[in-house]
Amino acid sequence: MGAPIEVYQMNDLYNQSKDGNKVNLTVGAYRTEEGKPWVLPVVKEAEKILIDDESLNHEYLPVLGLDAFSKVATKLALGEESSAIKEERVIGVQCLSGTGSLRMGAEFLARILKLKTAYYSDPTWGNHDMVFTNAGFTSCHSYRFWDSVNKRVDIEGFLEDLESAPSKSVIILHGCAHNPTGMDPTKEQWKQICEVVKRKNLFPFFDMAYQGFASGDPAADGWAVRYFIEQGLEMFIAQSFAKNFGLYNERVGHLTIVLNDPSAIPSFKSQMQLIIRANWSNPPAHGARIVAKVLGDRELYQQWLQAIQTMSSRIREMRAALKANLEKLGTPGTWDHITQQIGMFSYTGLTRDQVLYLVDKYHIFMLTDGRANICGLNTKNVEYVSKAIDDAIRN
Ligand code: PMP
Repeated sequence: MGAPIEVYQMNDLYNQSKDGNKVNLTVGAYRTEEGKPWVLPVVKEAEKILIDDESLNHEYLPVLGLDAFSKVATKLALGEESSAIKEERVIGVQCLSGTGSLRMGAEFLARILKLKTAYYSDPTWGNHDMVFTNAGFTSCHSYRFWDSVNKRVDIEGFLEDLESAPSKSVIILHGCAHNPTGMDPTKEQWKQICEVVKRKNLFPFFDMAYQGFASGDPAADGWAVRYFIEQGLEMFIAQSFAKNFGLYNERVGHLTIVLNDPSAIPSFKSQMQLIIRANWSNPPAHGARIVAKVLGDRELYQQWLQAIQTMSSRIREMRAALKANLEKLGTPGTWDHITQQIGMFSYTGLTRDQVLYLVDKYHIFMLTDGRANICGLNTKNVEYVSKAIDDAIRN
């Protein structure tokens, strides 16, 4: 038997629970105020346009994916005015969502460039280690990130660990809305991180699973990536369109590669084609066509902005409500981190025992490291969850 994947295990427990008050704060997916999944209206509109488009068919896409999708995905990550795009030193490859983009990037770095050492944050998304190890990285380490006492980024520890990483180590960075903590470095901290990455000749690999979804503003969420590029760094960026388009199961992803020497592009492409050919041969079209349509059309783009603002502002409201309730109850501890954090997740600070208490007594499901998906909260259950947390902490 392989080890169980905790997030799915907890989700199954939620589904099996017959309790009328049960709350699901497990899997990272958006939920409406009514607790339902949301198909973005702009996605429905784009789908209607695609269905009526007689020029489309179900032929294979090229190995590296849909060109129109790559163009808009690259612009979304780097910005319309990106000098790297103008200088034609950026390549885009369509992949299977964020996971596939990370995997293809990691395989390229391990197989072709023979890089074997990677660093991810402590804690990080539960899949980073497995993706990089299975791709051929033989030396995976963590860098300090979360200061659990002060509930902030441990920037001193982070920088120290980068300083001692060997040259050419791959540094996995969460572009925005760090998973699981929800705590991002400040701009000043990003500048410090960038300085060390550059001076120590480390290779940044940005994982951008939440661009636009985090703050409602794609440029704000892309700030760190764009800053690193301005500082002259080469990098890989794994983009997911699961959360920001609600296209979870369509597996829409993109690996953006920023190079300083454009003459490397043809050889990069030819090697990448071989790697992808051996994985899925060529990617699915439907989700990529939706994203290409929406981001490529001025009016649909505006509708998409509205949708990501709807999602991010609902999450912010729920963070504020949770914090306010806990403070009203006088729950022991400080709760500022709940609203300082951004995006879907909150590293609540709850211990494993406290989480298990919530599961047993209140049928509130989250990860045992204390990670809660804030999207699972709504105006009807936030008080119940706050009181339960209060009880768990006092007991
Ligand atoms: N990276 C991070 C940090 C994530 O949180 C996620 C989604 N949970 C992903 C990558 C990839 O998700 P997907 O493959 O569904 O796009």
